[in-house]
Formats: sequence, structure tokens, C-alpha cells
Amino acid sequence: MENVNRSIQCTVEQCIHHCEHCDYCSLDSVQIGTHESNPSTEECTDCLSFER
Ligand code: SF4
Repeated sequence: MENVNRSIQCTVEQCIHHCEHCDYCSLDSVQIGTHESNPSTEECTDCLSFER
């Protein structure tokens, strides 16, 4: 049975850690970061646990 972490909602279906049939992550925890030097909007943040 696939692990579903209902504390981490996610819609990135292309990620290997995405739940197959629901919009949740299957990891116990994820790391969030930024690719910007001075993040100012939500687009500046990234899930660093993403894997294709
Ligand atoms: S690792 Fe990040 S991008 Fe991948 S399913 Fe989990 S929350 Fe989404």
C-alpha cells in the first residue's frame, strides 16, 4: 500500500513521490527552498525533494 502523507498536499503529478491517485506527497517530510536570492512570491519557492 502506497504511503500517503495527508499533511503534505501536492499537485505535482510528475514527481516520483506524488501519490498515484490523490493530491498528496508520499514522503514523511519534504524540504522546501528557493532558487531566488530574495524570494518575494510563491513562485520563488521550490520543493527540493522533487524527483522526476
Ligand atoms: S517530493 Fe515535493 S514535489 Fe514531490 S510529491 Fe512530495 S511535495 Fe510534491
